[in-house]
Amino acid sequence: MAIRVTVWNEYLHEVELQEVADVYPKGIHGCIADFLKEAGMETRTATLREPEHGLSQEVLDQTDVLIWWGHMAHGEVEDEIVERVHKRILDGMGLIVLHSGHASKIFRKVCGTNSGYLKWREDGEKEILWVVDPGHPIVDGLDEKIVIPHEEMYGEHFNIPQPDELVFISWFEGGEVFRSGCCYHRGKGKVFYFRPGHEVFPIYHQPEIQKVIINAVKWAAPGNIPAVTYGNTQPVVEVKGEIKHTIGELHQQKQE
Ligand code: ZN
Repeated sequence: MAIRVTVWNEYLHEVELQEVADVYPKGIHGCIADFLKEAGMETRTATLREPEHGLSQEVLDQTDVLIWWGHMAHGEVEDEIVERVHKRILDGMGLIVLHSGHASKIFRKVCGTNSGYLKWREDGEKEILWVVDPGHPIVDGLDEKIVIPHEEMYGEHFNIPQPDELVFISWFEGGEVFRSGCCYHRGKGKVFYFRPGHEVFPIYHQPEIQKVIINAVKWAAPGNIPAVTYGNTQPVVEVKGEIKHTIGELHQQKQE
């Protein structure tokens, strides 16, 4: 069955700024959904101004991987929707956060830190993304580096928890470096943060960037998650040991 992807975009820059609309006539979400569809995925899009930001429970229940692009209106995303998305991640839905989505409510919640903190500079300098985990599925079929001729700079320190897997480190012409491809596991869900994507540059038209996002969707898709149980449980093999005191009794002894 095809992986079901929902591409979420704030969709304000493309409407308000002609230079962004020129780069993404169908919106950033339209561009991303198109190349994912071409890669065999079942795609739909959702945007901020739609009711429930386009992320009803029904939509999320039918989503294997959610992609998130936002920039100027993180604060307008309703907390209730953030909670709903977060719960689905813990239940197994994948999340891919792009570029300025680093400061979104959902990524901050996933991180548990204020991931909005980093250095930035908008001067169209060169970026080189170096692969630092060559065996990782997200870099399957890529070269050891991706060169982006013109990008916005993001620099360390990036206020995130240590990634479970670090896939890319970026170098910028101005001298800064940045952890540009970061994987996290949260509950049953997988989360990937991918840095490139400033809206005035044609980043999501670049084939290697598309390849990373396609690979990331495949990596983050839940597959068949085993049913798990929690709490007090019976042994699954015969237990030969004996116990003199239950924990409850021990607690009682301590108090005496
Ligand atoms: Zn940007």
